[in-house]
Amino acid sequence: MTKALYMLDCYLKEFEAIIKSVKDGKFVVLDQTAFYPNSGGQPYDAGVISKDNEAYKVVYVGKFSGEISHEVDREGLKEGDKVKCRIDWERLYKFMRSHTAAHILAGILEKDAGAKITGNQLELDKSRLDFNLENFDREKFNQYVAKANETISKNLKVNLSLASREEAEQRLSRLTNLAKGFPPEIKEVRLVEIEQFTTEACGGTHVKNTGEIKGIYILKLDNKGKDNRRVYFKLVD
Ligand SMILES: [Zn+2]
Repeated sequence: MTKALYMLDCYLKEFEAIIKSVKDGKFVVLDQTAFYPNSGGQPYDAGVISKDNEAYKVVYVGKFSGEISHEVDREGLKEGDKVKCRIDWERLYKFMRSHTAAHILAGILEKDAGAKITGNQLELDKSRLDFNLENFDREKFNQYVAKANETISKNLKVNLSLASREEAEQRLSRLTNLAKGFPPEIKEVRLVEIEQFTTEACGGTHVKNTGEIKGIYILKLDNKGKDNRRVYFKLVD
């Protein structure tokens, strides 16, 4: 299995690795990687893999049969090659900020409004959160957003750790769908603790301090059927 370096260090922009396999000339598996694969509503990390000053652009990263596979723009890399990798930091950092912001807004909607989060998708220019909530009140919603921004400006520390399943079940603020559905073969869980706020099981990339998010604002709010709401938010810049 590829060692996923982003699990404990989301700020790693450059690393070295050895190619474990190459499929169809363009799908590369490394012994370790800091490239985040497309998953859980968060897009993949872009960047380059270089060998002997030849750069191969990473155009997609996905998880297939448990392995993180990097799709490069052309053939040439081979099994056993020692490579240097560089992450597109601007892109990753935006996702780290919006991902952490999504935890905060979702946490407030759950704790204060009793909403149930049903989905999320991050994009470079906006992020989406889907939730179920009866009796929707626009003014109250604005208060939740204001509270999310207050939480962001408190500069809360965000801690990443790996925990055993049993420890994770005890420490989680809530049993997310993911947590409830931990398959038995999962022995270790990645925990994301926003100090004095929430602890969740999540595999994505996050900032170290909520202050780095700077703030969010709402772009659009949709009512999609009876209790289904969809909100689009954007980072303050
Ligand atoms: Zn997360």
